[in-house]
Amino acid sequence: MFVYVDNAATTAMSKAAIDAMTPAMHELYGNPSSLHQKGREANMALIGARETVAKCLNAEAREIYFTGCGTEADNWAITEGARLGAAAGKKHIISDTIEHHAVLHTLARLEKEGFEVTYLPVHEDGRVRLEELEAALRPDTCLVTIMYANNEIGTIQPIREIGALCRAKGVLFHTDAVQAVGHIPVDVVADNIDMLSLSGHKFHAPKGVGALYCKKSVPIRNFIEGGAQERGRRGGTEALPGILAMAAAMQESCEHLEENMAKVTAMRDRLIAGLGQIPCSRCNGSPDHKVPGIVSFCFEGIEGESLLLRLDLAGICASSGSACTSGSLDPSHVLLALGMPHEIAHGSLRLSLCEYNTMEQMEYILEKVPEVVRTLRQMSPVWTHMLENMEDPYLAVAQ
Ligand SMILES: *Cc1c(COP(=O)(O)O)cnc(C)c1O
Repeated sequence: MFVYVDNAATTAMSKAAIDAMTPAMHELYGNPSSLHQKGREANMALIGARETVAKCLNAEAREIYFTGCGTEADNWAITEGARLGAAAGKKHIISDTIEHHAVLHTLARLEKEGFEVTYLPVHEDGRVRLEELEAALRPDTCLVTIMYANNEIGTIQPIREIGALCRAKGVLFHTDAVQAVGHIPVDVVADNIDMLSLSGHKFHAPKGVGALYCKKSVPIRNFIEGGAQERGRRGGTEALPGILAMAAAMQESCEHLEENMAKVTAMRDRLIAGLGQIPCSRCNGSPDHKVPGIVSFCFEGIEGESLLLRLDLAGICASSGSACTSGSLDPSHVLLALGMPHEIAHGSLRLSLCEYNTMEQMEYILEKVPEVVRTLRQMSPVWTHMLENMEDPYLAVAQ
């Protein structure tokens, strides 16, 4: 059996996205800025796509800027939020420790440029606490950037409350919503969001296209100098095929949000119940506030990398954490931020689902993972050592 459960790294393109992209490549080859018929056709399609994306977020079309990826949207929003703050003499930013590297590395650059960043800790459930955010806010705070949902453990932050607090204090609020958009309802008005990043390839659009939502009252500066594209703020001829595909994928996921959430949640809960049977395992993140598709587990006494390789041999494509940290032997910064010891964080497994997965695939995973964990533990000196020091080793070997 072949099972793809790495949807938080990237998703397969949907038929709707491919169907929207194909004519864009065959016929809609005009430059949307051209005044002739081919240009007008392309421009009409672009306008429609912007409206679709805006509608799914409850934004206005003029508040949507298409970008090359989610990373670009994060860079743009945070850099501009900081610059606007500095212009008003405010150089303090608040974020948290489990952000994606697109956010963390942008903040690190700003720190080098003289900004001060407070990284809120997350609690064991992976969530920041509102009281702690409130206490960290200062008169010189210009920007709060907190992700909507985490890409490794799926935890959803109290975004609406954070947004309300920032609004009350007059502080700009950006959220990296790459793992939320297309997966759970997101409403920039109800959630009090000033800037939001999203990425197409996390919800069945192609790679290389994303968007930044920026509230119309926020005077962000141009990110790429050049032509008049994206209201002059991001020059460069629009990547129409990808943009049209992303709008189609977004529309489809918005229309089927409830049913997809129900289907994916049922599969996820089956996985959590089954994997929880493995001795000395733990499910990471919040049990209540999480996106439907992401399951994160740690298994004591084994290496996540070895687990992945063996699952791959069994036809299961999974991840140990984020795609960016796989390949390095450092444990994930997210799991460490939850307070997990290094040796346990090493034995992590992330299974990220989408509506294309099936319950049969979940049963297959639940057959293979315990088998592989058992085999690896038998070969693991760490595990043998743990058994020797365990009060009731019977429970652990019985499996
Ligand atoms: C994937 C991801 C990104 C980066 O998006 P790209 O389009 O791949 O650049 C940013 N933040 C989160 C939370 C992600 O999961």
